[in-house]
Amino acid sequence: MIKCDLHTHTLKSRCGYCSPLEMMNQAADLGLDALAITDHGTYTGGYISHALFRLPDMYRGVRVLKGVEVTICEDAQKIGLPAKYLHNFDLVISGFHNALPESDNPKKNNEYLIRYLDAHPYIDIISHPGSNGFPLDMSSVIPELIPRGVAFELNNAKLAQGKADLEQLRVMVEMVVTHQGRLVLNSDAHTVFEVGQDDAIRAFLDTLTPVPESCIVNRNLESVVAFIEERKPAKFVHKCNKGI
Ligand SMILES: [Zn+2]
Ligand SMILES: [Zn+2]
Repeated sequence: MIKCDLHTHTLKSRCGYCSPLEMMNQAADLGLDALAITDHGTYTGGYISHALFRLPDMYRGVRVLKGVEVTICEDAQKIGLPAKYLHNFDLVISGFHNALPESDNPKKNNEYLIRYLDAHPYIDIISHPGSNGFPLDMSSVIPELIPRGVAFELNNAKLAQGKADLEQLRVMVEMVVTHQGRLVLNSDAHTVFEVGQDDAIRAFLDTLTPVPESCIVNRNLESVVAFIEERKPAKFVHKCNKGI
């Protein structure tokens, strides 16, 4: 069980099937310490409104974090996120979702990812790197991105659905550990039934040399809060260039 689940979707993502309150109640019933609601930005059919930030910070013992998952575009300057909300987010997650020119080309995807993070330095977590259809050259891109402070996700939903390249993930984890980067373990839940689920991540990690706990951003609530605080200045200093 992931005690601090930092990547979940609600009805505010077109692909989510449950309300924010249903997800929060499930997190409370499961005894989670934190739940981040990270609906999709506008380029992937999500709808972010100011009401997200009117949800309580604590609900039935669960720290409720407000986030967003934006998609990596061909035009690195574009981000499907209302600029006026940027400084309100606890977490900004970003990953590949929509096909890009040559998105089956690892070198191109590396370039997109680096350009995107350079244009949007407030992105905290790369969601589901190594997912099928968007290969990366992990051995070169991970060491390049670690100094930017971003964390790399192991995504339970992608692993459970067989939509992740295990060899790429193996290299990613090895690079993160070697270069003292950070991992984050998330469910990417789209229904209440997936909240906090990490079975597929655990099964994958069991095939590797044990990963030091200190590499994992969401190992406990204190480490999550420390990560959010560390990343906060970027959200105040930088602006979305083309908000929506
Ligand atoms: Zn995603
Ligand atoms: Zn997601």
